[in-house]
Amino acid sequence: MAKMKFGTKAVHAGVEPDPSTGAIMTPIFQTSTYVQEEPAKHKGYAYARGANPTRNALQKSIAALENATFALCFSSGMGATDTVIKLLNQGDEVITSNDLYGGSYRMFKRVYERLGIKFHFIDLTHAENINQYINSNTRLIWLETPSNPLMNIIDIEACVAIAKKNNLLVAVDNTFASPYLQSPLDLGADIVMHSVTKYLSGHSDVIMGALATNNEKLFQDLAFIQNSCGAVPGPQDSFLVLRGIKTLHLRMERHCQNGRKIAEFLKNHPKVGKVYWPGFSDHPNHAIAKKQMRDFGGMLSFTLKDDSLEKAFTLMKSVQLFSLAESLGGVESLINHPASMTHASIPKEERIKNGLVDSLIRLSIGIEDSEDLISDLEQALKHV
Ligand SMILES: *Cc1c(COP(=O)(O)O)cnc(C)c1O
Repeated sequence: MAKMKFGTKAVHAGVEPDPSTGAIMTPIFQTSTYVQEEPAKHKGYAYARGANPTRNALQKSIAALENATFALCFSSGMGATDTVIKLLNQGDEVITSNDLYGGSYRMFKRVYERLGIKFHFIDLTHAENINQYINSNTRLIWLETPSNPLMNIIDIEACVAIAKKNNLLVAVDNTFASPYLQSPLDLGADIVMHSVTKYLSGHSDVIMGALATNNEKLFQDLAFIQNSCGAVPGPQDSFLVLRGIKTLHLRMERHCQNGRKIAEFLKNHPKVGKVYWPGFSDHPNHAIAKKQMRDFGGMLSFTLKDDSLEKAFTLMKSVQLFSLAESLGGVESLINHPASMTHASIPKEERIKNGLVDSLIRLSIGIEDSEDLISDLEQALKHV
């Protein structure tokens, strides 16, 4: 069969009718172990930390969506990231960005620096900055684009070019874009990481992570670490994500359409200051976003002209359709205040220096009708 397009892969990849019954949907194989005919003679399944058929179907589906040969699913996005860092040895160094997901920053800084791995947190929106930090211990470039919450864009191909010259691995956290919008492996990255919790799952009911790669040796090393350390997802969650992925392309299409309409509405609103959304032609890395992404997604942030914590809190209290919550990528729209929620652990001066001002608000735009989302923001902005 010809190479399938994205929507067809979302519906079909990885899922075969169940051989015992013909069930069209992969069953939830809720089992910890598998009966063997004789010692060490089994059907590819010995113990469920190593493999489970529901998880395998999901891994095939995610590999197909990322144009990868191999994928592994994990108990959380952090479990997936943790497994990549465990490829490294004491004394190794990593170059990463200075506006990472807070949980990744915390793991790198507070867990792995203690174990002897060094991280350089730098501005990766100018890829050439990497050159200054490369030395004989450097092993990995870890990047995340678009970034949270300011929607900075990193040029994946430019980072890969520098990495290839210096024999470094490149891993990309592709959570914000989802495989629908961005294919880092096609741009030369070695590993793609996902918080499956977000767009892939899409219904705010699962915590899960994933890695994908085309490199068999890397895949085997990652699978060995996963089986040794144990961060595997359960079959029920694997089933929920298999189901979620079947509508990934439809959901993403609507997330992008709604994102665009709301970004434009906010940009024209007299009480709104800056709007951070990579689809605007005056976004500092719009050209790169256009080159490496298929559309601009449903994540955006904005500030109030009258920048204060009080006004931001009033706005968050006044919305009726948006729910005040961390996380993103679900069907329902969420509103979040980085300064007091996701980024509260950053000292105030540093936070403001990096553009995370008191009134900065992040939206995860869901798949509701955009007219309703806009009227909700309109009425809420009247209160500030
Ligand atoms: C949520 C998130 C993670 C962590 O994933 P969990 O599934 O919560 O462990 C990592 N990176 C990004 C960009 C995220 O949004």
